[in-house]
Amino acid sequence: MEERLGRARVVLVGTTHPGNIGSAARAMKAMGIADLVLVAPEKFPHADATALASGADDLLARARVVEDLATAVADCVWVVGTSARLRTHSVPVLGPDVAAGQVLAHASAGPVALVFGREHSGLTNTELDHCNAFVQIPTVPDFSSLNLAGSVQVMTYALRMAALGGPEDIASPAASAEEAERDPLATQAEMEGLFRHFEQALTTIEVLDPDNPRNLMRRLRHLYLRAGLSASEVRMLRGILTHTERGR
Ligand code: SAH
Repeated sequence: MEERLGRARVVLVGTTHPGNIGSAARAMKAMGIADLVLVAPEKFPHADATALASGADDLLARARVVEDLATAVADCVWVVGTSARLRTHSVPVLGPDVAAGQVLAHASAGPVALVFGREHSGLTNTELDHCNAFVQIPTVPDFSSLNLAGSVQVMTYALRMAALGGPEDIASPAASAEEAERDPLATQAEMEGLFRHFEQALTTIEVLDPDNPRNLMRRLRHLYLRAGLSASEVRMLRGILTHTERGR
């Protein structure tokens, strides 16, 4: 169990209050999740973070600070975005338990991440575009926004519960250890390479008009991110794109 939880990362994007970073670290530590990455926090390190971590300051000491979400999740094989209200495109939104089961299943294949947004404005649409799946913690309809660290607690608890449930409870194509070794899930960096290739090839064959791109790239991203592609499937698609660009 601990091995898969050891591959789980919590990413906090643009956190305003350092106290929330400390409280999130405390929530994580109690659930056996230690990898914390901070994307452009407003104030960190900070005495309020240390005070609210209340004994989880080892997590803070090891936390990495990066500039953007793409960097935070580049090595990850599965990324789940959280939101109080999903105002974007028609993508499926999961509950915490199902999402946690998926995350854990994919943790056999490589690092996985749960991504949390800013206190006031959450995650941007562009940040949500990096996610394989989306979670909303169910609330009453007219008061859906939880405190940031409270959300981290709910999600890391769900992850721990999924881990206690054992490895067999979620069926996922690339979830077993042997399968993961034979054909690992694509990392986010590999997925970004695929999307750049798509953009280029679709522009060449004039399916994508750079002056009027509409929502094409975003919809393609969601389609392929949701599918959980393996590294070899990404290579196959890129092979097809190369031939598409050449016109034969
Ligand atoms: N007004 C913001 C609220 C941000 S709350 C918005 O609409 O997104 C700060 C962060 O806490 C969110 O970005 C999300 O990561 C998490 N969060 C808060 N409430 C949540 C909920 N009901 N489900 C999932 N995540 C939630």
